[in-house]
Amino acid sequence: MAGPKAHNWIAGMAPYVPGKAKVEGVASPVKLSSNECVYGASPRALEAFKQSADTLLRYPEADSAELRQAIAGVYGLDAERIVCGAGSDDLLTLLIHSYAGPGDEVIYSQYGFMVYPVQTKAVGATGVPVPNKNWAADVDGILGAVTDKTKLVFIDNPNNPTGAYLPWSEIERLHAGLPEEVLLVLDAAYAECVTAADYKAGEEMVERAGNVIMTRTFSKMYALAGLRVGWGYGAPEIIDILNRVRMPFNVCLPGQPAAIAAVRDTAHLAASVAFNKEWRDALTAGLSALGLDVVESQTNFVLVGFPQEGAFDAAAANAFLSKNGYIVRALPSLPHHLRISIGTAEQNRAVIALLTEFMNGSPE
Ligand SMILES: *Cc1c(COP(=O)(O)O)cnc(C)c1O
Repeated sequence: MAGPKAHNWIAGMAPYVPGKAKVEGVASPVKLSSNECVYGASPRALEAFKQSADTLLRYPEADSAELRQAIAGVYGLDAERIVCGAGSDDLLTLLIHSYAGPGDEVIYSQYGFMVYPVQTKAVGATGVPVPNKNWAADVDGILGAVTDKTKLVFIDNPNNPTGAYLPWSEIERLHAGLPEEVLLVLDAAYAECVTAADYKAGEEMVERAGNVIMTRTFSKMYALAGLRVGWGYGAPEIIDILNRVRMPFNVCLPGQPAAIAAVRDTAHLAASVAFNKEWRDALTAGLSALGLDVVESQTNFVLVGFPQEGAFDAAAANAFLSKNGYIVRALPSLPHHLRISIGTAEQNRAVIALLTEFMNGSPE
């Protein structure tokens, strides 16, 4: 048929399949499949959001200047090196679109955030997945995969969907081994909930290196996923590129004051982080006690491995949870695992109780 033709590399792409939000026959299922933060946003952020209703006829501030100032103030950063986006997905996507194209290579971990392979395909570049090591990124594997076609290296640290992280010394080693022309993207979407002492998100490397950008989000521990606000901290040359290609009004009007209030409410964040750690530990202990293989997590979810064969496999567990109104994330790339986001205290207890019942049950 005649008609407009998209790039041929786009025709072969599959559309993104989000985490399920519905279960047939269950009125209001519990959704633990998208790593949303059920602890909730700062009440001050919600109040700022409501107040913005009066000014919705206006365009938002185009360069998110006040938000960048607020982030810079709280984290001790240079506001000029910050760029905000409609979620960090926006910035990750723009980075790939700005720095890679047909014939170029983009490196990421085999088990990692799916935006990297999807957007690499979208620009007609070649994705180079590198096997994980202990569920995190494998620095030696990545360095070994670099060629003269490599444009970007993505590290989701901590990793989604595994929850594992690389200590800062490993990030330093990776950066030291990369050519200056390769852009290192430190995707630190879960930075706020990391409690490991040897973790750093990347600010200090950004301030001394010309080829590094760190991305952050208000979607996870700040619990504002619905507003779509993220930010990047990078070398001035990289921020300049992003400012050229991004949409002029990329962060929505309610998103800016809400994110400002959220980032300034450090007490609320601390309480949320403490809650998250308490239940991350409890879920890890409770599910490990069932003989399940829980990957040690620094995030707001746990990746749980099930027996590979027999009646207690991940697919059966997923069906059992779903039947009981709990939606978790099944991953095509990890068929023996389920990714379970941390929920409310009651929901977490229910997940442990349901999986206990499942593992002790007789095969159907
Ligand atoms: C959730 C997530 C993001 C970002 O999400 P936004 O809502 O677009 O900010 C980025 N990277 C990883 C690894 C994530 O899990």
